[in-house]
Amino acid sequence: MLRRLLVVWIGLLISAGASADKPTFAIAIHGGAGTIEKSAMTPEKERAYRAKLDEAINAGYQVLEKGGSSLDAIVAAINIMEDSPLFNAGKGAVYTYGGTHELDASIMDGRNREAGAVAGVKHIANPINLARMVMEDSPFVMLAGQGAEDFAKSRGVPMVDNKTFDTEQRRKQLDKAREKLDRKNQQDKDYQASVEALPEPFRMGTVGAVALDKRGNLAAGTSTGGMTAKRYGRIGDSPIIGAGTFADNQSCAVSATGHGEYFIRYNVAADICTRVAYQDKSVAQAADEVINKVLLPVGGTGGVIALDAEGHIALIFNTKGMYRASRRSGEAAEIAIFRDE
Ligand code: ASP
Repeated sequence: MLRRLLVVWIGLLISAGASADKPTFAIAIHGGAGTIEKSAMTPEKERAYRAKLDEAINAGYQVLEKGGSSLDAIVAAINIMEDSPLFNAGKGAVYTYGGTHELDASIMDGRNREAGAVAGVKHIANPINLARMVMEDSPFVMLAGQGAEDFAKSRGVPMVDNKTFDTEQRRKQLDKAREKLDRKNQQDKDYQASVEALPEPFRMGTVGAVALDKRGNLAAGTSTGGMTAKRYGRIGDSPIIGAGTFADNQSCAVSATGHGEYFIRYNVAADICTRVAYQDKSVAQAADEVINKVLLPVGGTGGVIALDAEGHIALIFNTKGMYRASRRSGEAAEIAIFRDE
């Protein structure tokens, strides 16, 4: 009898220990990676970013805490960042070369690899919600431009004026970018090289989220205005499943931010989860390998947030900073911007 009690007691101890370091739910978000340095940021600006990251991570956390799905949690967090002029998504989207805004977003459900994406939409306030509609309410994965907006109208989504996304700060970035591009690129030659010559702030600031809910389901989503002064209908990695967004309960959930052309060619989000699935690597190791050992040597700058089905979180970037936050069940939110924090 005593022996049986001892066994039960030890068993209880082991399960209590296991649940203490295994969160039942978790969420991580990013608001873009790039040359983000403390010395170049005013205390007010830093406070504003931290407050918005705090609001977004906690909005997603509360959904999970109440037993909501990982999809609902990431959309709640992303909507807050899309509605803020601070980030390059929704309200704060960058300008195209022509002075308008073209938005991209994608979402993926880790339960079944269902996915939805929209690219180059101009009149949608919250592109992540439309990406989710494509996933849940259409037989398609990716809709672009006018067609995506026709689909939105058919589902009753209100259209907003493209000027809704105008902000003074982004306008200044466009003016500077155009000045540089036009000087370097009179005949429209070598456009990519000219864009690459622009400093990182001109092409970064995307938002994204990954979450694990109480039922053990992962989800990932990403939303962006793309790259300042983009043209010719340029689309980056953010709306591309496998490049900017990926989720599968068997491996991990990833949302990326950075120089989209590299993230597309190196299939970044899927590559990280493939390493987790087939090489039995942790999300931290897999994300570090892809961001620092694969992308960095070829000149691909940016970062990712990654989360596995056990609640392990990795926030990895090869730039000076990345707006980021994470929170696991029962723990406080962690918010960071610069490299060494
Ligand atoms: N990845 C986005 C793009 O290339 C930009 C970003 O993350 O800042 O469109």
